[in-house]
Amino acid sequence: MEELIIGSHVSFKKNDQLVGSVKEAISYGANAFMFYTGAPQNTSRSEIDIELTKEAKKLMKENHIDPRNVIVHAPYIINLASTGEKFNFAVAFLRQEIDRVENLGFDKMVLHPGSHVNLELEEGLQSIIDGLNLVLKKDTSVRILLETMAGKGTECGRNFEELKRIIDGVEKKDNIGICLDTCHIHDAGYDVTNFDEVLTQFDTIIGLKYLYCVHINDSKNVRESHKDRHENIGMGYIGFDNLLHIIYHEKLRDIPKILETPYVTSTDDSKEKIYPPYKIEIDMIRKKRYNSNLIEDIRTFYK
Ligand code: FE
Ligand code: FE
Ligand code: ZN
Repeated sequence: MEELIIGSHVSFKKNDQLVGSVKEAISYGANAFMFYTGAPQNTSRSEIDIELTKEAKKLMKENHIDPRNVIVHAPYIINLASTGEKFNFAVAFLRQEIDRVENLGFDKMVLHPGSHVNLELEEGLQSIIDGLNLVLKKDTSVRILLETMAGKGTECGRNFEELKRIIDGVEKKDNIGICLDTCHIHDAGYDVTNFDEVLTQFDTIIGLKYLYCVHINDSKNVRESHKDRHENIGMGYIGFDNLLHIIYHEKLRDIPKILETPYVTSTDDSKEKIYPPYKIEIDMIRKKRYNSNLIEDIRTFYK
């Protein structure tokens, strides 16, 4: 029996880099994880430390974390759906980020396709295609996973058709794939309570062979709200049973499931603190039983 591949977003800090990320993932009982190589909202990055990377790989091996189940998320300010300076900057940064991912020994990077802002959708999609064709070189081993977006503002990739058009334009198909985010597709308008139908659509339009990662998040909003606000597992409009059906779906068995649910706030000794929900959420997912006391249990665990 194949084990469930599950993990969450973890931090990647300057001092201990990947070692810290792996330790954090282990503390959640995860066998997969995702991280940004620096702050998600900016592009300042420190040099990848070879010794720390080696130590982290050893730790991963000892704890049965397969490097193929580790995902890097590109910073979300990178916008390939742009022109001029902005476009050039995005391409240059993405190129460096691919090098960092290769240096770390991983092979998957999630990327938000971009927002076309004042360009027409068509122009935005073409810029994304051009950008991807510029960064993907003959010897590139990383696969860029375009994330399905909620359709906030002028986000590209709000439906399977748009993502398919980008893939069609990319020359190196071995270096492109999709990351499906449950909160995003729900917010975009897909009915995830009928996930088998959504998967069938995905397969018909894009092809399941392009699916390499699933972000598991509940949503704070109703379907088609285009809001993109993640909720803790079972506490939003998607609900526990629907998420469980996705997580344990036979067709997604070999694909890492990554939680990006919000931290829980708590006031301890009149100080505001925030706690990661992932250990308790992963626990609940493994037990396949909704914990109506989830938030309190998270607070109690870290107190
Ligand atoms: Fe994302
Ligand atoms: Fe996501
Ligand atoms: Zn999101």
